[in-house]
Amino acid sequence: MHANLAGLLKSHFGYSSFRPLQREIMETALADRDTLAILPTGAGKSLCYQLPALAREGVTLVVSPLIALMKDQVDQLTASGVAATFLNSTLDPRENRSRLDAIRAGEVKLVYLAPERLMSGDFLTTVRNWNVTALAVDEAHCISEWGHDFRPEYRRLRELREALPGVPAIALTATATPRVREDILSQLALREAAVFLASFNRPNLNYLVEPKQDAASRIVRFIKARGADSGIVYAQSRKRSEELAATLRNSGIPAVCYHAGLEGPERARNQEAFLRDEVRVVCATVAFGMGINKPDVRFVIHADLPKNIEGYYQETGRAGRDGLPADCLLLYSRGDVAKLIRFLDEIPDGETRDHARLQLDQMADFAESDHCRRVNLLGYFGEAWPEENCGGCDNCLAPRESWDATTEAQKFLSCVLRVSQTGHPPVGIRHLCDILTGSRSEKILMKNHDQLSTYGVGKEHGAAKWAEIARQLARKGWIEIAGGTWPTITLTADGMRLLRERRPVSLTRLMALDKPAARPRAGDIECDMELFEILRAHRKQVADAASVPPYVVFSDIALRHMARDYPVTDSAFLAIPGVGERKLADYGPGFIGLIAGWLETHDRRHFAPLAGFSSPAPKPPKPAVNSTAQVTLELWRSGKSIDEIASERGLATTTIENHLAQAIANGEPIDPRVFYTAEEEAEIRAALVGYSEEALKPVFDHLEGRISYGKLRIFRAFEAVGHPA
Ligand code: ADP
Ligand code: MG
Ligand code: ZN
Repeated sequence: MHANLAGLLKSHFGYSSFRPLQREIMETALADRDTLAILPTGAGKSLCYQLPALAREGVTLVVSPLIALMKDQVDQLTASGVAATFLNSTLDPRENRSRLDAIRAGEVKLVYLAPERLMSGDFLTTVRNWNVTALAVDEAHCISEWGHDFRPEYRRLRELREALPGVPAIALTATATPRVREDILSQLALREAAVFLASFNRPNLNYLVEPKQDAASRIVRFIKARGADSGIVYAQSRKRSEELAATLRNSGIPAVCYHAGLEGPERARNQEAFLRDEVRVVCATVAFGMGINKPDVRFVIHADLPKNIEGYYQETGRAGRDGLPADCLLLYSRGDVAKLIRFLDEIPDGETRDHARLQLDQMADFAESDHCRRVNLLGYFGEAWPEENCGGCDNCLAPRESWDATTEAQKFLSCVLRVSQTGHPPVGIRHLCDILTGSRSEKILMKNHDQLSTYGVGKEHGAAKWAEIARQLARKGWIEIAGGTWPTITLTADGMRLLRERRPVSLTRLMALDKPAARPRAGDIECDMELFEILRAHRKQVADAASVPPYVVFSDIALRHMARDYPVTDSAFLAIPGVGERKLADYGPGFIGLIAGWLETHDRRHFAPLAGFSSPAPKPPKPAVNSTAQVTLELWRSGKSIDEIASERGLATTTIENHLAQAIANGEPIDPRVFYTAEEEAEIRAALVGYSEEALKPVFDHLEGRISYGKLRIFRAFEAVGHPA
């Protein structure tokens, strides 16, 4: 029925395979079904509506929130030989008219619209006279007040839909909490929409956390070690972003800053300089983000602690859109946590403040944890990840030294117990550390806590060390830190048992400074770097001549393939990923000439074959039952309950549930009724309808947290092997 999608993918965009979910999404859209696609940054959402636009009659309208983004996309399409244009307020009337004429004449396949266009007078009437066959809404979360980039103009999209009855719509976004997702579905009046939700894993990103010491010089060293690569440094304040940019420039690194306090023209100029590879680094506040489609951001550094994990995920997500390896470095200090806590005091509403505090604590926990960063990050979004070496985070690549903390754990836990036995309400970490170190502070004396048997028994460590121990004990589930703005500590049942049974405890040391960089790096493309640099310089010339950013000409991936395959014929050049027919015609001769010239004076080098670089598998390999899961399974077979196994092994119950899910997926015969009732099962099934997704958070939220993540995973495992009736 439709032109061959794979053929169009190659001839126009030069790619020979689809990224995960792309084909399914395109086919659904081409079947004229309303569609919502929630895929992480860099997953390739644009192609999901661009390719169908080429495959169908008529014109596809694309709504996109930022003028800069729109121009960028149209430049990229034009360079690939696709007839595309945009309409927004920057065009002069004559230009505007000629574009409208071309659209009416059916010469254009994709029209990008700024949402403010929808407000203007008779625009809807105009649109009705075009042969519009599809509507695409990019960054669709902008329609929701609950989202982080709400745009009131997006609300008018509804009128656009009404003006075009029967035209199917596709909405795309990288972020959609359940509330935002519901908003997108209802505001856009998507009917029986097919919802696609991909894994949030970014396989090519390396996550690194280091203690923050002498941050500016650490950042300089980090960037200097990365050749000509470009990246973003996020800072908490405008002033700091300016200072950091100045420091980098003084160290010989071309850098600019970007924040909401800059005048419009300066902001645009700085952004442009970054996109065009005229500066290597932008030092920015969180204001810098959505407009950045630059695919070759090779690192994102957080000079200060982000306020929550969602922000951290979004900001690090701007690295490595092209799928090549990229590093995300977070510089962490407890001092940053304290500073952010002080800002929280300014939030008037108690509930909002408590929520912000919780989110901040989760962020700090992430930074301090000795667990796989990927497991933690994806776990936050409700997504399971095999607890094996992920190969792309500091904790997996350079596991931390552990130490015997049995005595310390006993001292701390019994201190919590003693306080509770006095009948006082629970106290916070700081207070407990003061008791242990024998502080004579007013608060201690007032509560007579200098009379406790645990008073002063922990003088071998300072208060900061005790606080660090406490947070590790909390992460292991032996104490609970809870209670909004002024969190207090209580002993959990597990902690009580640990205390009674005097079981050995091992904790890990704080992260080390300057750990070896994460390697091997997922998606790396080894190539002849000298030739790569020559091709990169040529790309910059070609791009400048056409007034477009270099990545519009070719991606780094394409250049790397050229610098390892040495294509000197048209057909060899066409085989390079990202080279379609138009780019071959426009840029082929120049690049081929350079490569042929290079080969006259240099030998071809040979490189190891690449393992599936073009679609970095976002799905985890199906894990065999690994050794730790095997231990769980054996305890399970011996008749122990999940809680018993969890406390015996000192692991969280969700971890045990994950182990069991693995075992079930591997065929372990277990009765599902042990985990949930038939009613609960029906409820889970209903919540899962319509989603072909990896992330469980939406389902978890939908069920209002009544069913644990572990149970949901177990359900999934049963589904995978056929749920016994
Ligand atoms: P998103 O909007 O989801 O963040 P983009 O649409 O900007 O992602 O695509 C990210 C990058 O991936 C782009 O450089 C794009 O050319 C590339 N890309 C998209 N689909 C494919 C594919 N099937 N094969 C190779 N590269 C692809
Ligand atoms: Mg996009
Ligand atoms: Zn890891």
